[in-house]
Amino acid sequence: MARDKFIWCRNCSAIHHVTPFDRVAVYAVLSDAVEEIATYDWRAFMQQHANHKLEPLEAAGEKYFANGSALDPMSVGYIEVTNGHDRFLLRRSRKSIEEPLAYELMKGRIVATGLSLEVQENEIKKEIKYHFTWSPAMPLNDDRIDLFIGLLKELVKGIDPNTVQITEYSYTDESVSYGSLDPDVIEALMMKCAAYFLPVELAAIRRFVESHRESCDVMTLLILRQSAIEQPVY
Ligand SMILES: [Zn+2]
Repeated sequence: MARDKFIWCRNCSAIHHVTPFDRVAVYAVLSDAVEEIATYDWRAFMQQHANHKLEPLEAAGEKYFANGSALDPMSVGYIEVTNGHDRFLLRRSRKSIEEPLAYELMKGRIVATGLSLEVQENEIKKEIKYHFTWSPAMPLNDDRIDLFIGLLKELVKGIDPNTVQITEYSYTDESVSYGSLDPDVIEALMMKCAAYFLPVELAAIRRFVESHRESCDVMTLLILRQSAIEQPVY
């Protein structure tokens, strides 16, 4: 995953986010090269801060934190960046939906606060409904599927996230990985299900669970890395 890059004007504290379109130009200038292919935003920034002290910043790995959904255009995000020596925190926000994202430097850092587990509820539902047809008992109707997912969620609540074995990392979200349900959990799930499902349904459920627990398949758990902003106390 390419790391986000920024230019920081140390005179004005202004931050420009380098997009893929102007990345070439930025490198050209910061490395004193002659070649220059610029886009409008970048050119405007460079003109506004001509003769100022500019410093390139790069995202420092996986340190990223967002308030709310990453898909929500108004959500505030934080990203840790480095100039190669020191670390800084950037706050990303938008004043209104029409305006571009604005970045500002702030004090603080992102700290890990632990892991949480989530069941892939919607994916399980879809898979059972539309794809899993190995048995006359499948697909289960919606109420039966919800019942199954409810029992699974209840069980997952009792699992310590640190004990879950990671099966795959998410390509799109660095704070997400996938983990396997271990055999003990599957047995416990089947025991719970036995109280509500017919034997023919139980057999189908077991086959469903067993055949969807690899890599990032629907019966793996989402392991979410939680983080928070820690601000210095004066
Ligand atoms: Zn400036």
